[in-house]
Amino acid sequence: MKTIASFKVDHDKLEKGMYISRIDGDAVTYDIRMKKPNGGDYLNNGALHTFEHLFATYARNSEYTDSVIYVGPMGCRTGFYLILRDNVSSENAIKLVQDSFRFVAEFSGKIPGSERKECGNYLEHDLDGAKAVAEDMLKVLDGYTAEKLKY
Ligand SMILES: [Zn+2]
Repeated sequence: MKTIASFKVDHDKLEKGMYISRIDGDAVTYDIRMKKPNGGDYLNNGALHTFEHLFATYARNSEYTDSVIYVGPMGCRTGFYLILRDNVSSENAIKLVQDSFRFVAEFSGKIPGSERKECGNYLEHDLDGAKAVAEDMLKVLDGYTAEKLKY
């Protein structure tokens, strides 16, 4: 089998940030890297899970709702993939992520979709962990530009 594109990125050189991972037709996959790969510090499962619920909720309720194809965590627990249609500019994709992360950082109350009937592991949530990662990433993405989206 062929090595898929995301495995060809040199993960030793990858820093926290936001990158374009691949483009398939009109679908742009963004690599939102929240932890340094193989750095010994990873999102815990609860934080990753809560982050997913909040990030997806915000992005899918944003003005770009019709362009959001997918929001989901990486299995290595170092970040998320966000897949948007290419009618969202790079600048607006960065802004959507910044706005989403601000939403996570400031969130309080009941996590959306966290009832037993709504979720596959409804007890495994960590809101404080998700908020800490969002705050950290808001610093990383502050002033982020489209040029930085290249690996
Ligand atoms: Zn869930």
